[in-house]
Amino acid sequence: MQTAVDHKMLQLSMYINGAWQANNSVAKRQIINPANGTVIAEAAEGTELDAEQAIQAAKQAFEQGPWPRMSAEERAGYLLKIAERIEAHHEELTRLETMDNGKPLREAGYDVSDAAACFRYYAGLILAPHGETYPVPDQMQAMVVREPIGVCGLIVPWNYPLLMSVWKIAPALAAGNTIVYKPSELTPVTATKLFEFFDQIKLPKGAANMVLGAGETVGHAIAASDDVAMVSFTGGTATGRKIMQDASGNMKKISLELGGKSPNIIFADADFEAAVDYALFGIYAGAGQICSAGSRILVEESIKERFITRFVERANQIVVGAGDNPITEMGPLVSQQQMDKVLHYIALGQKEGAKLVCGGCRLTGGAYDNGFFVAPTAFAETTPEMRIVQEEIFGPVAVFQTFRDEAEAIQLANDTKYGLAGAVFTNNAAKAMRVIKKIRAGITWINTYHGTYNEAPWHGYKQSGIGSSLGTYGLDEFMEVKQINFNLDVAPIGWFANR
Ligand code: NAD
Repeated sequence: MQTAVDHKMLQLSMYINGAWQANNSVAKRQIINPANGTVIAEAAEGTELDAEQAIQAAKQAFEQGPWPRMSAEERAGYLLKIAERIEAHHEELTRLETMDNGKPLREAGYDVSDAAACFRYYAGLILAPHGETYPVPDQMQAMVVREPIGVCGLIVPWNYPLLMSVWKIAPALAAGNTIVYKPSELTPVTATKLFEFFDQIKLPKGAANMVLGAGETVGHAIAASDDVAMVSFTGGTATGRKIMQDASGNMKKISLELGGKSPNIIFADADFEAAVDYALFGIYAGAGQICSAGSRILVEESIKERFITRFVERANQIVVGAGDNPITEMGPLVSQQQMDKVLHYIALGQKEGAKLVCGGCRLTGGAYDNGFFVAPTAFAETTPEMRIVQEEIFGPVAVFQTFRDEAEAIQLANDTKYGLAGAVFTNNAAKAMRVIKKIRAGITWINTYHGTYNEAPWHGYKQSGIGSSLGTYGLDEFMEVKQINFNLDVAPIGWFANR
């Protein structure tokens, strides 16, 4: 079908009710390789009507199809087959992800492995006991059972095209829901491959549907539909707000994983080289296009000069290039638009009076031509109210802030509208724990950065989100709880006189 990598131009179609949709007549969107600006694929541009068709297919599959009705063991069997396919196609998926998103092969490879592991994790978890009983009076049996929610709309961004999709698809399907999924319009390639696997393993018709296209049309139609029982969204905070409004029509359940401006706090007593290394990794991995990026580096005043000098020395040596070049350490930004946004923030930082200490420009010439490359960039001498300190840039731009003591570090760390992630570097264990406990964020690290596991919840505080992905929490998101009270001693209640 559509995504054989040896084809010059991939043709991507939508997958609705167990069938690929003929896309000869519909409008097409060109999918660009951000490393060189070439067109790698043409994707069918979905409309509200396509979304509606997918929603109706998912609704019918939920109401009448086998997916919600089969045993968890049977569903787990499908999930394991998907994991096997992902593993068998590891190299191809890695290459496609790099072509589509721009990230280096090394990063894409981790994403593909994590995606397979996520399907395996939920295949196992769905077999664990669910539900509870309660110690109510003896003549009653009170229990809670868990049930799927219904049609779940899953809308994801472009920064982890495959992995963010799987974080939603795996638990939603494991729980017995049927899904209408929309990848980012910028990066639909690996998602299409995933749906090829669904087709090959004969996932029941209508259980998983994929609509391609823009957020304002297809995404909006999914979020606003009265036939969608839940929408699970990962993306920007402004879009999250629109989704909440759309979802209010039928009061559908929402789960939102949104933006961040996460603090990485470096105390003077930290292991110096490790802290520098992780600070670089925290902001420049994924070219800074990671929601949990350590984009604010808070350094204790006494080591400020030494830390920034060493950080800049290392940042200037990062090998920026095309993701498919094995020596590349940092790839391009995903699109011209994203690059322009990042360059705009860099200009803004200079205008606001921050001191540019490295990078600050687009990389051009030679291998960079036609690609969306921005040099690893950092600003020092910032103040908390600057927009480059407060707003999510989503690119390779770090801002340094400084603090004199623990209290000031905590105050600065919490001084944005976001609350996604945060880290502390110190060799004082009690101080590390004290500070971490005061950080208003859901994903935190001590003496490390970015590592996360399928078993633990991914969760934003404040305007970074509502609800959780991953772990048992991520499965609970996709299930309803129902209490059942069973009278074991049936006789008239006698509340009203029996006249
Ligand atoms: P985005 O909000 O622009 O788009 C995300 C998805 O929403 C896309 O599929 C898009 O088409 C769709 N969309 C856009 N407008 C919509 C609308 N009105 N209704 C319904 N859907 C709509 O975000 P992006 O630029 O693709 O991704 C970057 C953002 O994602 C960053 O803010 C980043 O922090 C965030 N993110 C968060 C997490 C997390 O776990 N918290 C993870 C990854 C990315």
